[in-house]
Amino acid sequence: MERRGSNLPRVGDYNQLLVLDLVRRHGSISRVELSERTGLSGQTVSNICRRLVAAGLIEPAGRAEADTGARRTMFRIVARGQFSIGLHIDPARMTLVLLNLAGEVEERASLVTPSGDGPEDLLRAVVDAVAGLAARRSDIAPRLVGLGVSTPGPILADAVIGPPNLRGWGVVRLRAELESRTGLPVVLEKDTIAAATGELWVSGGSLNDFAVIYLGTGIGAGIVLGGEVVRGSSDNLGEIGHLSGDPDGPRCPCGGRGCIAITCAPVHLVTEAAGQGLLPPVPPDDHLGIETALARLCALADDGDPAALAIVEKSARGIGRIAANLANVLDLDTIILGGPNWPALSRTYLRVAPPIPASLLTVSDVHTVEVRGTTLNEDGGAIGAASLVMSSMVSARSERLLLPR
Ligand SMILES: [Zn+2]
Repeated sequence: MERRGSNLPRVGDYNQLLVLDLVRRHGSISRVELSERTGLSGQTVSNICRRLVAAGLIEPAGRAEADTGARRTMFRIVARGQFSIGLHIDPARMTLVLLNLAGEVEERASLVTPSGDGPEDLLRAVVDAVAGLAARRSDIAPRLVGLGVSTPGPILADAVIGPPNLRGWGVVRLRAELESRTGLPVVLEKDTIAAATGELWVSGGSLNDFAVIYLGTGIGAGIVLGGEVVRGSSDNLGEIGHLSGDPDGPRCPCGGRGCIAITCAPVHLVTEAAGQGLLPPVPPDDHLGIETALARLCALADDGDPAALAIVEKSARGIGRIAANLANVLDLDTIILGGPNWPALSRTYLRVAPPIPASLLTVSDVHTVEVRGTTLNEDGGAIGAASLVMSSMVSARSERLLLPR
């Protein structure tokens, strides 16, 4: 679904962002087609294209012959016309990418998330990493539009509210802190929602109704309906931890059985493996240690170790069940599995989670549901965060408009 423009002058900026997003998604598109798709007059589109060309964001791409025989002026995106930085904060590891307007990653860095109490060490590490990137790429400074931050929730307005996996964090005004320390405009989004934004950004308009199941230190979901990322009433959509992946599973403190929060989260897989002597024990709050141990467990499973396979396969079946329930509730046609632990889990999960059993899928007579892995690998959260800055340029929320004037 594509948003329609308006010919009223006060929404001129919004129209400009719509046109820019269409050019980006189509690779090459004519002025006539832009007018048809946005509902804007030919004159308005011409004016917008002239402004975008002058700003160095799009460029003429020759002329193409239309069915009528008329010659149409084509436009394409200037990939290096604009850049954004994406930061993904997982309790185990942080990833930073530099994204250009065409969605290509030009730089990336990965660093261990500081494990001290409270956010100060993390803030310092982020500021150092952003400063290092900016120094290496001083050539793009005038075209750097902002920093997108993808963080574990819950979030409230511009603050992170005591994420369960970040020790000593109370209410942290992450957006304001990072804006004042980096000097960049900052967009803050929950990790699962950023992951969905990243998938939408790279899909080029081919995906409209899908969910991303985010597999990190925690497990959550991001949802896209009708081509729009859904955020919920407080921007915290996607808490799926208390959905059951195993009706016969252990009792959860919430009263349910086999909730994925207590059966599929990495800490539980690693603890179970350690209990069976497959791995040395790891303290549950050592997030990096858990991530490393999970990768070892998955490597054992990939090598055919039956005990390791049983643990990882059981979690994959649980996630497959959640995928089916999300598809049923929201009538989705695609479920994407991603997040920081996806590269480790992918081999077993891709063998076990799809296809969804017909007995679980209520719409199976109407359409299929594809369950597949992300193409963004472990950088998905950071690419999503960076694309948030770019895509916030096409958000209807005026406070998120970051396009330089
Ligand atoms: Zn529960």
